[in-house]
Amino acid sequence: MQAATLGGILLISSIVLFVLALFSFFRRRIAGALSFTFLLLAMDIHLVGYAFELMSQTKIEMVSWLRFEYIGIAFFPFLILLFASQYIDEKKIANRWVKTMIFAMNFITFLLVVTNDQHYLYYQSMDVVESYGMQVLLLSRGIWGNMQHLIGVLTLVYAIIGMAKKVNRSVGTYKTRARCMSIGMMIPLFVYLIYAAGIGPIAIDLAPFSYVLMSVLIGIGLFQFDILLMTPVTYQMIFESIDEGVLVVDRNGLIIRANDSVKRFFSSLMTAKGGSEIASVKELMSFDFEAGQSQIEVGSRIFDAKRIQTDNERGTIYVFKDVTIAEISKRKLEIMATVDPLTGIQNRRVFMEKLENAPSGVFSILDLDYFKEINDRQGHQEGDRILRIFAQSLREYYSFQQVCRYGGEEFAIFYPNETLKVAHQSLEEFRLFCMEKKMGVTFSAGMAEYLSSGINPAILKADQKLYRAKEAGRNRIQV
Ligand code: GH3
Ligand code: MG
Ligand code: MG
Repeated sequence: MQAATLGGILLISSIVLFVLALFSFFRRRIAGALSFTFLLLAMDIHLVGYAFELMSQTKIEMVSWLRFEYIGIAFFPFLILLFASQYIDEKKIANRWVKTMIFAMNFITFLLVVTNDQHYLYYQSMDVVESYGMQVLLLSRGIWGNMQHLIGVLTLVYAIIGMAKKVNRSVGTYKTRARCMSIGMMIPLFVYLIYAAGIGPIAIDLAPFSYVLMSVLIGIGLFQFDILLMTPVTYQMIFESIDEGVLVVDRNGLIIRANDSVKRFFSSLMTAKGGSEIASVKELMSFDFEAGQSQIEVGSRIFDAKRIQTDNERGTIYVFKDVTIAEISKRKLEIMATVDPLTGIQNRRVFMEKLENAPSGVFSILDLDYFKEINDRQGHQEGDRILRIFAQSLREYYSFQQVCRYGGEEFAIFYPNETLKVAHQSLEEFRLFCMEKKMGVTFSAGMAEYLSSGINPAILKADQKLYRAKEAGRNRIQV
């Protein structure tokens, strides 16, 4: 066997591994991918170093390439431990201390290999021998060399057992992935066992030749997620199982796809065939597809609608979500926040909000006369009824003005852009109208002009006028 041929195979492998390392680096968000990248780079250093070691002519050259290789291989145990523990998410055995210790030992390995001539602790001896017609280094390990190998085997065993457990825990695609990884991890152990059993070629390291297979298997396990998970079958399952109704329409308004949910929402779609016109779906007649309308009511149901334009503009996806319950609660809350529950007219909060934006006008406050007596004599319920009737009359009479229930038996009217004289006349007419109606109650009122100087002075003034009207005998308006 030619050293150059083997060296060439190794160098090609190193390119493959480097590309894989780049690929892995760009997917470093996947658990374990970053430490896998480092592992690949370490293997790559071994590959390149070993390629040149095999092609070297002299012992000195061989030994210097061997040292170069240890920049990578010295850290294998640490990197395998790191990668496996990250991937299988195990931190009890591979805790911080164990990791630090193994890293330190690996670093010592590197130092001892570089300085081996002085102590022979890593390699007891290095001799150049002939194997398969090549000059190669025959290495015999010393104490530390054996130690490094033992740790290497232990971390591999840890990785293989961890991944086997993960195979058991996982289902479906994940099981296949984990299986791929554990087989990948078994390869270096297998190669080592061949070596240990003495059945491999003498003085030739088989490990570098197994790196590509090992890395590809692990890589498939680690990254096939991207490739396999989003198969059309998966998309189909998602499409049919989601609660949102999905309707795909082509450029010409023809139905391409409708999922189960959208058929439940708009039952005409049950019978509509692919290719029929969206405009013919009864429930969607009023829906403005072009404008991307955001809500539609069909019968008693309310749907939020979202329009998604496909990338190539060849079709449009409409997603409908049943929001009936939420929408009804929202509407109820809106009403509760703006309307007085007893009388059904606007409450004070909304009235005041509107007033703040008004440029000018007349503010008037109405207070029912002797209302406490009405309650006392005729009962609270009758009092409530009178309040409702009064409020109703007020709203009908002043359909163009702002009115509200201001407090218990107090009401307010705002006449925008109106003079005090006209407003006074109008309220006087309403007072007479109430008396004619014989609703069982009269009112007194105070009025004040509001001239964009802030509403508060007008309110204060109207209040004082009201007090004066009460004092003057009630059932009257004071300006
Ligand atoms: P005046 O002419 O001086 O305004 O006499 P009045 O009795 O109307 O004045 P007062 O402010 O002393 O009493 C207002 C009463 O209105 C007291 C309260 O019991 C009654 N009232 C306030 N809110 C309601 C309500 O929602 N329902 C009923 N039935 N009574 C209410
Ligand atoms: Mg009062
Ligand atoms: Mg009163």
